[in-house]
Amino acid sequence: MSSTGQTRGNGNARVRSAAAAAGTRLDPWYNTYADRALGMKQSEVRSLFAVANRPEVVSLAGGMPNISGPPFDFVADMAARLIRARGTKILQYGPGQGEEELREMISEVMRPDGVRGHPDDITVTTGSQQALDLISEIFLNPGDVVIAEAPSYVGALGTFRAYQANVVHVSMDENGLIPEELEETLTRLESQGKPVKFLYTIPNFHNPAGVCLSAERRPQVAEICQRHHVLIVEDNPYGLLGFEGDPIPAIQTYNPDGVVYLGSFSKTFAPGYRVGWALAPAAVNARIVLANENALLCPTTFGQLSIAEYLRTYDWYQQVKEYREMYHERGQAMQRALHAHLPMCTWNEPEGGFYTWVKLPDGLDAHAMLPRAVTNLVAYVSGTAFYYDGQGHSHMRLSFCYPTPEQIEEGVRRLSAVVNAELELVDMFGVSNRVASGSHLAHGTEIPAPNTY
Ligand code: PMP
Repeated sequence: MSSTGQTRGNGNARVRSAAAAAGTRLDPWYNTYADRALGMKQSEVRSLFAVANRPEVVSLAGGMPNISGPPFDFVADMAARLIRARGTKILQYGPGQGEEELREMISEVMRPDGVRGHPDDITVTTGSQQALDLISEIFLNPGDVVIAEAPSYVGALGTFRAYQANVVHVSMDENGLIPEELEETLTRLESQGKPVKFLYTIPNFHNPAGVCLSAERRPQVAEICQRHHVLIVEDNPYGLLGFEGDPIPAIQTYNPDGVVYLGSFSKTFAPGYRVGWALAPAAVNARIVLANENALLCPTTFGQLSIAEYLRTYDWYQQVKEYREMYHERGQAMQRALHAHLPMCTWNEPEGGFYTWVKLPDGLDAHAMLPRAVTNLVAYVSGTAFYYDGQGHSHMRLSFCYPTPEQIEEGVRRLSAVVNAELELVDMFGVSNRVASGSHLAHGTEIPAPNTY
């Protein structure tokens, strides 16, 4: 007994010391992680956002939709009704591809974008974020190239990083991704023997740049990618949220065999249900379904059937129009506030979506300035979060989706005090110090706190 106990004790000690030798004092498993896990970087500003979420801080950082709009009584009654009438189905596992009744309705939801997608080619996912993960899983080997706009959606960059991809940025202007630059980049990478797996693009009310890919450029982008045999991942969570006019036809409409189109109910209904989808060419979709089954077994039955019921029984498109009006009003409040308080900056005037992309005066660094902004009770997301390669110091993303018009005005007013103070310091001490003070933070993609996406 004692000898067995002795042996066991020694064995444990050996295991512990081996683990410690292999890892670090803080994390004995450090050397056990896969390379992809070590590539996941936490934002150095995450702790700041704990402060930024305090009620006294005006947050222009969050990409959260304003969900005061949906009819809560209707949604509550609907949930109760569904559980009573269909409880054995709604609380059960379902198919890995997603519920057919919802996939049929998703076909209808994509119509305003001109997309004709068959329900068989749709997979329901846990938000479009999970669709990004599944696509990365089935296409990306470590080192493969993904092309993305400069800047691009931080959540997608984080996923591509987790799969150890190499993101190459292509510039945008006020009409979105620049086709000539896309062509040049693809040609250059081909000549270097670097396989490009897909173009990741957000053509409508871009996160964070706020712009749309113009109608003229959409067939050009589709044609360039088709000629270079590069798949397009078209991420479209904001397409229905244009302030005026109908959506521009999706890139998918120009080459359905070459595009995986992603949609989401997060911005047009409620992100809490975590329901999005991918529409893909049949062979690609078959692999997405397999990957989805591996990851989840099946997407949320409760969420899917709730959304199907909502689409069936509520005037959801009228609700989307009300959202558009609310976001339009907030977008205008942002424009008024910027003109009034930040005339030393430049910015775009988004025609939909959630975001304004603001350029600071020369010499100012959005990353370095953020702690001072939070001290001044206003938060934003530094442009550095939206690049893979350390750019973005001169920009900040200001969201107008969540704060009220009054909060937007107050937040931008507070920001102007910070920018003016920075400018005085630059006048006094020169530019290089301030930029240098933030530049060491540029390496890797920051991943801000989740609610800033
Ligand atoms: N794509 C873009 C461009 C986004 O902005 C977001 C959320 N902010 C997502 C995908 C993910 O959204 P969800 O998973 O809620 O559908």
